Amino acid sequence: MKEMFDLRGKVAIITGCNTGLGQGMALALAEAGADIVGINRSNPTETALLIEKTGRKFHSVIADMSKMETTDLVIKEAVSAFGKVDILVNNAGIIRRNDAIDFTEKDWDEVMDVNLKTLFFMSQTFAKQVMKQGSAGNIINIASMLSYQGGIRVPSYTSSKSGVLGLTKALANEWAQHGINVNAIAPGYMETNNTQALRADENRSSEILGRIPAGRWGTPSDMAGPIVFLASEASRYVHGYTIAVDGGWLAR
Ligand code: NAP
Repeated sequence: MKEMFDLRGKVAIITGCNTGLGQGMALALAEAGADIVGINRSNPTETALLIEKTGRKFHSVIADMSKMETTDLVIKEAVSAFGKVDILVNNAGIIRRNDAIDFTEKDWDEVMDVNLKTLFFMSQTFAKQVMKQGSAGNIINIASMLSYQGGIRVPSYTSSKSGVLGLTKALANEWAQHGINVNAIAPGYMETNNTQALRADENRSSEILGRIPAGRWGTPSDMAGPIVFLASEASRYVHGYTIAVDGGWLAR
């Protein structure tokens, strides 16, 4: 059974892994045996150290995930470092908060570009490489509770993450036949930079905490089991599904 979760010999690309959930998932994939290609805007020094401690290799690519041309660069760098790619985790994401009535085009475009447009073209470029290799592949997109709910003052974020849920199904429908599993994880309310503003707002913070059946905010290490499952043979017949890792939030 343990072999089904074994990622030794696999190469995993993860976008935005210098901090937060991306760092937690990169570490989990390395602990399961994968070598990691990390895509970040700044040097992911801490993540590199953590991964090297597991005995796996870490290749850093400095690139901006809001730019389309990054997708080709990432695959070329990964293939030149490790010879192939097996796993893609589309984690990089941003949020902008403002009342819908005042929301600007800039805040709309910036969020949609990173969270949805580049995620799609990154997946497309990865899938072309996997098909060229003639191997299997796993894509895991990072969705959100706002893939299911409307949220407040985050219209572009909700639109992008609702799009991620739909796109995960759409890509699975086309690529399952090529041996590529496309799935997603929808994290609940997790302690990272992304939720700093929410946690700093006493009212919102206690409202949120009071609704989480598990009675606590999630942490990057809560992503470890689900990401390894979706990146491994253990999820071979799982396609187009979004797993909520939310302490029971959606069950309420
Ligand atoms: P985070 O700490 O803000 O991490 C976001 C990551 O994305 C960072 O590594 C960030 O890099 C990277 N990133 C953003 N824009 C980028 C760009 N243009 N190019 C390259 N990298 C970029 O937040 P997080 O909570 O770990 O978020 C990870 C993912 O989980 C996101 O997709 C987020 O929407 C999703 N999520 C989070 C929660 C939560 O409660 N925390 C809940 C649901 C979904 P920099 O450090 O350079 O900005």
